[in-house]
Amino acid sequence: MNIDLNENHEELRRRVREITAKYPDEYWQDLDENRKYPSEFVDELSRSGLLSVLIPKEYGGEGRSLTEATVVMEEIQANGCNGGVCHAQMYIMGTLLKHGNEEQKQRFLPKIASGELRLQVFGVTEKHTGSDTTKLRTFAKKVDGGYLVNGHKFYIGRGQYSDLMLLLARTTPIDEVEKKVDGLSTFLVDMRKEKGKSLDIRPIRTMMNHSLTEIYINDLFIPDENLVGELGRGFRYILDGMNAERLLIASECVGDAKWFINRSVEWANQRELFERPIGQNQGIQFPIARAYASMLAAEMMVKKGCAVFEAGGNCGEEANTSLLLASEASWEAANVAMQTYGGRGFDANFAIERKFRETRLYQVAPISKNLILAYLSEHVLGLPRSY
Ligand SMILES: Cc1cc2nc3c(=O)[nH]c(=O)nc-3n(C[C@H](O)[C@H](O)[C@H](O)COP(=O)(O)OP(=O)(O)OC[C@H]3O[C@@H](n4cnc5c(N)ncnc54)[C@H](O)[C@@H]3O)c2cc1C
Repeated sequence: MNIDLNENHEELRRRVREITAKYPDEYWQDLDENRKYPSEFVDELSRSGLLSVLIPKEYGGEGRSLTEATVVMEEIQANGCNGGVCHAQMYIMGTLLKHGNEEQKQRFLPKIASGELRLQVFGVTEKHTGSDTTKLRTFAKKVDGGYLVNGHKFYIGRGQYSDLMLLLARTTPIDEVEKKVDGLSTFLVDMRKEKGKSLDIRPIRTMMNHSLTEIYINDLFIPDENLVGELGRGFRYILDGMNAERLLIASECVGDAKWFINRSVEWANQRELFERPIGQNQGIQFPIARAYASMLAAEMMVKKGCAVFEAGGNCGEEANTSLLLASEASWEAANVAMQTYGGRGFDANFAIERKFRETRLYQVAPISKNLILAYLSEHVLGLPRSY
């Protein structure tokens, strides 16, 4: 395993900044106020190839490493934009790349790489079963030539702004499998012709602008050729992709923390009260410095996690720790920025309160902090399983 601490991937960061510079605070504030999706931003990112850096070159992507993908996500956040509107493409892709067959890769990857197809929906969570994923009820019944799916997916991001969905559904009832992780399968669903028919997608309003939806699935037909990997092993594929997902989202949190810290420093140096900048007071500068230290620790853990992943090792410990530390670091930095800005922290004319709302998510989704701690307790420390 090799971690190059001097490699900052400046060329990749510059490409991201060239795009993020066109989408300033006002753009995001307007969308936030009107609960609109940033289509222009996502289209431009897709066309630039930055959302498909993980797709191998032979399928039209850039064939880059997970480290480089985390750099893209971090830089988007560090410049005040919100990668949460399109990050799913990066981590959903892993299942297709690793477990999809050659025909599926040829059929989907070049179009995803060019931006012609949007792979933004990850249909896992359900209302009644929440974190207890293996109990999910959406069922795909085998029929002639494919599967007929019925069920309901809850808290699904970007349901209205994607062409494809990676769906996790039961294909064998839970009481007929030896292990509850078995009998679940992953499918690539072409949503385009199904919206308003077998897919009834309804928006859910959240405290931040996230394009969250619930999806009612009524007699959705999925052809055999859209089953990804082996029947019944889908949950294992999802688990398999979770380390990359955790590292990518942790890097977004690191980016958020950097953004909050930079804005705090800027404001603390600029705002003068009692004949000096407020940043001259230790009560203002120490919390910023502490948030910076938390961000650095999280950033280091993301780098280590990516290095273990790229060396082919099991990075469960590092990936989970990264997301825990990074989501706490971004939240700490968000609170510090609120305090540093005083009343302006709450003022929607400044971007702090919007980012504050956005970054809070990552302690709950894609996985809540408790389940990360449960993983570390059981799988790393050898404590009894608690759930
Ligand atoms: C904005 C947003 C976007 C999302 N996007 C997607 C998406 O695109 N696709 C998708 O599939 N899902 C998505 N989700 C769902 C998300 O993954 C879940 O909300 C999350 O996993 C928690 O599930 P839940 O909300 O049902 O909470 P619950 O499972 O009901 O849990 C509630 C609380 O109880 C805690 N808890 C539960 N069991 C235990 C235990 N054994 N020990 C300790 N604590 C426990 C949890 O940690 C949590 O804090 C999204 C959610 C949000 C809010």
